[in-house]
Amino acid sequence: MAICEVMPKHKKEMAMQLIDGKSLANKIQEDVGSRVKKLKQEKNIVPGLAVILIGDDPASHAYVKMKAKACERVGFYSITHNMPDTIGQEEIMATIEMMNNNPRIDGILVQLPLPQHIDTTKILEAIDPKKDVDGFHACNVGRLVAGMDGFVPCTPLGVMKMFEEYGIELEGKDVCVVGASNIVGKPMASLLLNANATVTITHIYTKDLKAHTSTADVIVVGVGVPGLIKADMVRDGAIVIDIGINRLEDGSLVGDVDFSQVSKKCSYITPVPGGVGPMTIAMLLENTLKSTQKRTL
Ligand code: NAD
Repeated sequence: MAICEVMPKHKKEMAMQLIDGKSLANKIQEDVGSRVKKLKQEKNIVPGLAVILIGDDPASHAYVKMKAKACERVGFYSITHNMPDTIGQEEIMATIEMMNNNPRIDGILVQLPLPQHIDTTKILEAIDPKKDVDGFHACNVGRLVAGMDGFVPCTPLGVMKMFEEYGIELEGKDVCVVGASNIVGKPMASLLLNANATVTITHIYTKDLKAHTSTADVIVVGVGVPGLIKADMVRDGAIVIDIGINRLEDGSLVGDVDFSQVSKKCSYITPVPGGVGPMTIAMLLENTLKSTQKRTL
């Protein structure tokens, strides 16, 4: 069975292996931290990240706080531009322009979603592609699709790092991506295709989701529907990556996969929390450092 080929020999007898995103993210953060220290000592350069946060959505505030803390931990310079949700498009554009021209800033991130009256595409297109550490500018989207070097969105990039860390070979595998947003599903599918997987992209209009997931060697789901992927939608030995983050009424965090049942069938699975989430922040740090290194070459 093809799926066995992805399991290291000594693990063939084991049932399911948890992909520990938290540990991997910590390891990456430590590595970024020591590279930043070296850069400071040898060239007196400090990577800088600017975050633009609009409105008072609690989840966005929580994410930005986590990003700022991570920047501090690895020794980055970071600033957050906190703006009210009544702010106009032009003022946001002017702040981005200021950050585009600020030599201390290597990465610019606009926390999404933006208020209804703001044109998100225009805002993302205003960021200098060389500082677009979220990889949402059309320039970087195009580079990813063409298989060229550029900035890749942090969440799908984090998933690729997990595959690499766990020795999961993607070439020739049937991968089903569930969810097709610009920030998760589409870039995920491009990365998988670039890794020579056979990729099926599914979404809300897909007629029979189970028909696609149940034959896949690997399922990557990022949808925002708790427990969407059930055990009968997953083949034995599949690899399941859960990008979804959903807060239930009791306050607990769950993914898009029915973890308790699906984990009994698969060879690898990511937990929520502690799976893809921490990897997203680790990749933001990596992308920002990559931008600094390009600037200072
Ligand atoms: P989105 O709303 O922009 O896109 C959702 C996608 O899922 C769409 O393509 C839609 O067609 C599809 N979809 C919705 N319901 C479906 C269904 N029943 N069956 C099949 N497809 C369905 O959301 P997003 O921004 O891409 O985020 C998706 C999920 O990933 C959310 O839970 C979000 O919190 C999470 N997320 C996690 C991270 C992380 O760091 N782990 C980062 C970004 C997003």
